[in-house]
Amino acid sequence: MKINEHFLQLKDSYLFATVGKKTADFKKAHPDKEVIRLSIGDVTLPLAPVVVSAMKKAVEEMGKKESFRGYGPDQTCYGYDALLDSILASYARKGVSLDKSELFISDGAKSDCGNILDIFSADNVVLLPDPVYPAYADANVMAGRKIVYADANEENGFLPMPDESVQADIIYICSPNNPTGAAYTREQLKVWVEYAKRMDAVILYDAAYEYFVTDPKLARSIYEVEGAKECAIELCSYSKTAGFTGVRCGYTIVPHSLVRGGVSLNKLWARRQSTKFNGVSYVTQMGAAAVFSEEGEKEISANIDFYRENARIIAKCLDDAGIWYTGGKNSPYIWMKCPFGMDSWTFFDYLLEQANVVGTPGCGFGKNGEGFFRLTAFGSRENTIEACRRITQILKRG
Ligand code: PLP
Repeated sequence: MKINEHFLQLKDSYLFATVGKKTADFKKAHPDKEVIRLSIGDVTLPLAPVVVSAMKKAVEEMGKKESFRGYGPDQTCYGYDALLDSILASYARKGVSLDKSELFISDGAKSDCGNILDIFSADNVVLLPDPVYPAYADANVMAGRKIVYADANEENGFLPMPDESVQADIIYICSPNNPTGAAYTREQLKVWVEYAKRMDAVILYDAAYEYFVTDPKLARSIYEVEGAKECAIELCSYSKTAGFTGVRCGYTIVPHSLVRGGVSLNKLWARRQSTKFNGVSYVTQMGAAAVFSEEGEKEISANIDFYRENARIIAKCLDDAGIWYTGGKNSPYIWMKCPFGMDSWTFFDYLLEQANVVGTPGCGFGKNGEGFFRLTAFGSRENTIEACRRITQILKRG
């Protein structure tokens, strides 16, 4: 027996563990201080009432012989019509027409951003932005794939554009981005689509934060760009859209027109899913189906508006202090340049000690994250306002 030695190449993911330990140590040493976490990457508002009642109804159905359901429908890779139809309708509202058989219901975007790699050869070169959501990098390291990085930095507003001299086969794009909050315009995505086509590459487009987009120049789906159906797979999630981080539901779109080497990637993914996956629970799917109903859209928009307002408050605090940042609009993340020329961990310690506020050091997301820091809008209003008051104070004091 030999283990998969590629796992030994993984870097220790010490980032959140270190943030947790430093915070716990500080609290122990200063029990009187009220520490505020602007590092929360999880949602904090509860599920929308319409989702809760849809799930309750589905549970009741499961408890009766006449309406009990077992495995989901085979012909749609376990997706129930009510959910598939609601997703198609949500795309139609973005001007994108899809077929039901192009949708694959998942237990979230994180699983599929790694699982989808099963349909690609290990020889492919992967292009990732730096800084990056760590799961993309780790899933490819596990498979032994070569990774090249596109530098995201202050000069390009943390939105790298294609470099024609780089040959890439699989390209991960996350927009609006975690950790930087930066989001591509439709025009910029068009350049990526054209590059991918020239390279015969496939884009894995992570749209986990699309619901935060309000600027009409920004895309909410890569399929808003002409030609994207021939080169892109889109990964979506109900986690940040509708507070499903603990419920678990998402969907992946593999268009029929995405063909490589004469083979339909949709067929490959359907085969992979029917072999290694048995679908998402009926109760979860019914809850998700309520999200894009008229009532659901209203209720989830109220939650997203709440996070948006937190993001606006944080962004204003940085604007007033003259600090450079990306995100804050169209995203729950604010990616700020560390003040006073500090590196990410020095600023982390400074912010914790002086303002009793916790954020996430940017260097944990890649080398280009050094000197940057991530704040999030997922906290309570009260904490967000108080954290900003303290941050303003320490930035003034220097
Ligand atoms: N993709 C990105 C960019 C994320 O930031 C996250 C979660 O933080 C995910 C995917 C995970 O989504 P899910 O909860 O659907 O697995």
